[in-house]
Amino acid sequence: MRLPLIRLARYNGQGTLGKRAGMSWFKREDHEIVNDSRKTVRTEGLWIRCPDCGKILFKAELEANLQVCPHCGHHFRIDARTRIENLLEPGYELVDLGLRSTDPLNFTDLKPYKKRLAEAQRKTGLNDAIINAVGQLGPHNVVLSVMEYSFIGGSMGAVVGETIARAVDRALETRRPLIIVAASGGARMMEGIASLMQLAKVSAGLARMDDAKIPYISVMTDPTTGGVTASFAMLGDLNIAEPNALIGFAGPRVIEQTIRQKLPEGFQRSEFLLEHGFLDAIVHRKDMKQYLAQALTWMTDQPQETVSESDIQTA
Ligand SMILES: [Zn+2]
Repeated sequence: MRLPLIRLARYNGQGTLGKRAGMSWFKREDHEIVNDSRKTVRTEGLWIRCPDCGKILFKAELEANLQVCPHCGHHFRIDARTRIENLLEPGYELVDLGLRSTDPLNFTDLKPYKKRLAEAQRKTGLNDAIINAVGQLGPHNVVLSVMEYSFIGGSMGAVVGETIARAVDRALETRRPLIIVAASGGARMMEGIASLMQLAKVSAGLARMDDAKIPYISVMTDPTTGGVTASFAMLGDLNIAEPNALIGFAGPRVIEQTIRQKLPEGFQRSEFLLEHGFLDAIVHRKDMKQYLAQALTWMTDQPQETVSESDIQTA
């Protein structure tokens, strides 16, 4: 009996057994269980995990499926260039890419706004969070404006506002329908009032399109929030969205804290908004092009296939 006790005592660095009185015989090493997120398997490169169903997806397969999970239909975010490529026929033209923010407030938060801009420009190869394109969508000549979420959260500063204003001008000049695909965290706070003024500028432009009876379709993708929802995203002749996109003005946490109530399940998602009359339709990414083409045919009253006069007479 004694031998193991002595061993234990020595093991614990205790000189004599006597000193152990009142102390526990077994000492637990201080190994806390560490929940290290870095321990999760990295699937960089070829594979990606679907955040919705958890299945591991082959990236090439996901890309071939327009970045939609083939198992559960989760719509991954896609960049502006890919989206334009998916929607327009080959031969489209990217325009209005030259504008750059001047950092009017010389703003610094965690880092200087100028530095943020430079980083985003390097990462995306764009000057700001939007691309305008002119081209053909099905049988229709359109002006398409697509936001780039990976450029400072797709936030709307003076450049995004001005670029949309130019898309509106192009649509008015050429009488082409306008489609804007939104992906945005809202107004760009680093530009303060200059960013908020874009809400009014863009809304006024869209009102002119309304007077000229030129269609405007708003496509909301995940996420569409803040000043973008409060202006052009909700001003479409048709307001449509991709499935399960986050769409709202203020974030759910801010609303919960303000009204001191728990928000319902699925609040601020496309399906909830459709049910409550804020959206006209939810359109799966694979159907988006076809849907837009059909909607424009209906809105512009242009038959998809031209019917000759002799056909009408014999009919
Ligand atoms: Zn999935």
